[in-house]
Amino acid sequence: MPANQTVKSIVEQVRSGKLTAVTAAHACLERTRTIAQKLNSHLHFDEAAALAEAAAADLRIKTIGADKLPLAGVPVLVKDNICVRGSKTTCGSKMLENYVATYDASVIKRLREAGAFVVGKMNMDEFAMGSSNENSAFGAVRNPWNLEYVPGGSSGGSAAAVAARLAPVALGSDTGGSIRQPASFCGIVGLKPTYGSVSRSGLVAFGSSLDQIGPLTTTVEDAAMMMDVLAGLDASDSTSVKHPQSGFAKALLENPEALKGMTIGIPEEFFESGLDAEVGSCLERAIADVQKAGAKIKRVRLPNISYSVAAYYVIATAEASANLARFDGVRYGHRTQGANLNLKDLYRKSRNEGFGREVKQRIMLGTFVLSSGYYDAFYSKANKVRELISRDFAAAFDSGVDLLLTPTSPTPPFKLGEKLSDPLAMYLSDICTIGVNLAGLPGISVPCGRTKAGLPVGMQLIAPKFNELTLLTGAHAYERATEWHKDQPPL
Ligand code: GLN
Repeated sequence: MPANQTVKSIVEQVRSGKLTAVTAAHACLERTRTIAQKLNSHLHFDEAAALAEAAAADLRIKTIGADKLPLAGVPVLVKDNICVRGSKTTCGSKMLENYVATYDASVIKRLREAGAFVVGKMNMDEFAMGSSNENSAFGAVRNPWNLEYVPGGSSGGSAAAVAARLAPVALGSDTGGSIRQPASFCGIVGLKPTYGSVSRSGLVAFGSSLDQIGPLTTTVEDAAMMMDVLAGLDASDSTSVKHPQSGFAKALLENPEALKGMTIGIPEEFFESGLDAEVGSCLERAIADVQKAGAKIKRVRLPNISYSVAAYYVIATAEASANLARFDGVRYGHRTQGANLNLKDLYRKSRNEGFGREVKQRIMLGTFVLSSGYYDAFYSKANKVRELISRDFAAAFDSGVDLLLTPTSPTPPFKLGEKLSDPLAMYLSDICTIGVNLAGLPGISVPCGRTKAGLPVGMQLIAPKFNELTLLTGAHAYERATEWHKDQPPL
């Protein structure tokens, strides 16, 4: 199997009898053996388990028929905060270093039913907190375009591996940008679906009102094929809903020039101060390409968007402090070895040893903003700001805009270590993506250029809630009109 296989090409070859899941798995494993170590992209890479999974997929293909399985024979990489039964699920944390999942996340069940199988668990920022993948307890991930640079985070292992063609697709999770921003840094496609459209059951919670699982792929068409399978109502996630739309991959084929006649809104706030000049010029060219593809451009404003990072770091940390309370060394997670400890000290020591610095900082911040006396000043206020931001987006769409177009990240990939001593600069990496999570909207990052140093730059498109059809067809039409997605890192 050559290194440039897509989800689509694998399914086609399995259907025509030219490829089996086991052969596809072998090809992935071979490439992974030589490249994964350079990137530190994988946390668990068990060849025997992957081949057993592939064999089970082949059996399913044989019994049910490849034509009835939308992802027949597709190898999938999975971020290590998504449960795969019998496999370690560490969340990039020492706290869960030895935790073996006892059940499959709903998305994993759906993928298996569709004929896909899991080939590896991917490195990530601890508990999905980070924008550079330097917060993993198991070491930083490297950007395949230049090993001195970060791949973005928190789904950095997923993004680096797909960019390096170790598999055609990976699952990531996105709370404030963690699918789109690493996709942009690694030159691939990252889709964050509408909140509620993909089940979170089996995803280890970070900020429950913001978290959403989605695919990282090398083409928009592959993202649409994944969305066809991932989206759906799930009884084990009370926030999941039945998506009003379906047939995403088919829609792309039927409407390849979807940008024709669309109105694309450019939120001016994202193009003002703080935007890197090279990212800015890539985006200017992307806007021109979108126009050439037949879309009308309209400048719009999102007046409250500048408060999004502040509101996010109140809401996300508040939710994280509650979600991470379960890791106490008794019910779950790392337990300190100390003897004769009282209960409080057992909790304190276990949590102190198990969690890394960034996670502790966020638990403290989240506990503070929820504490009595500060709740109204911070947490309630942040929720009001969240509502204002949602209304800004709604008003922009109501003004006749089909999609919004922004940079995915205000800067290109940065060097390992460059932002570690400046948390605010790190937090600002997600300034273009966070508002989308606060408003629960779908967003996608697609490659739109490279810097002079050869590093990828991404463009983000944003659609109204539950309108992935417009999002994916628009992104696909842009992709067809450009060549950026065809470039591969020099590995
Ligand atoms: N970088 C953001 C954070 O650190 C977003 C993370 C995410 O989307 N999981 O919280």
